[in-house]
Amino acid sequence: MGNVIVVYAIDALEHILVEKFQNKNLMQTTYGKTDITQFSQPRTMVLWSSFMTCEDKEQAVLSLGDEKMWGVRWPLEETFFKEFKNPKIIDLPGFNYDMDVHDKSRALLKEYFESEDRQTKAEVKKQYNQDAYQHHRSVKKEFLESLEDGHDFVLGYFSAADVLGHLNFGNKTMMRMIYKDLDEIAAEVQKKTDKILVLSDHGMKAIGEFGDHSEYGFYSTSWESNLEHPRITDFGDILTRL
Ligand SMILES: [Zn+2]
Repeated sequence: MGNVIVVYAIDALEHILVEKFQNKNLMQTTYGKTDITQFSQPRTMVLWSSFMTCEDKEQAVLSLGDEKMWGVRWPLEETFFKEFKNPKIIDLPGFNYDMDVHDKSRALLKEYFESEDRQTKAEVKKQYNQDAYQHHRSVKKEFLESLEDGHDFVLGYFSAADVLGHLNFGNKTMMRMIYKDLDEIAAEVQKKTDKILVLSDHGMKAIGEFGDHSEYGFYSTSWESNLEHPRITDFGDILTRL
């Protein structure tokens, strides 16, 4: 068993669905909900920024405005990643995520909701879902390969549950499939190390056939922990002391 510390970061992984689908590998030794009530809304960029800097970054991120906040890049020195010798961070919002991929998916989402035409909607949705799967596969490959590369810390960020969930949360078959794949990735990681944190920024709740962010996140640790309802800013310290 290797010694690498792994953060398996999953956007919008919903506690209720993990239990409902019985995703055993995502649940690990200790799991539960995070407390994100200090934030006015469950916003992805605010939450991951706060996670990596171990500070509440809501004001700092919101002060940039709706468009500019997606371009936030916290320097390594302001994150707890600097505590590691050879950290590898994959596609994390607020650090190094692929702006083109995420811009395109947000543009398609906008187009979907602005279009009145059924066929256009169907086509936009198809493209949006395809892009999400394709990006998911590429991050998955890089993440699993990184576990073999001699890093002391690896973080992989997976957006598919969020991206697919926004347009397809009512499609239980699709949600079950993506959760199953996320669960299988956890099983792969567990073969490589016994220091794994699975962490989401927020969960997801149904709004008709669509999905919107829920007001708590999900965490699970491969080790026995008595965290109960930790804040997202608590984890940097926990991980550097492992
Ligand atoms: Zn979202």
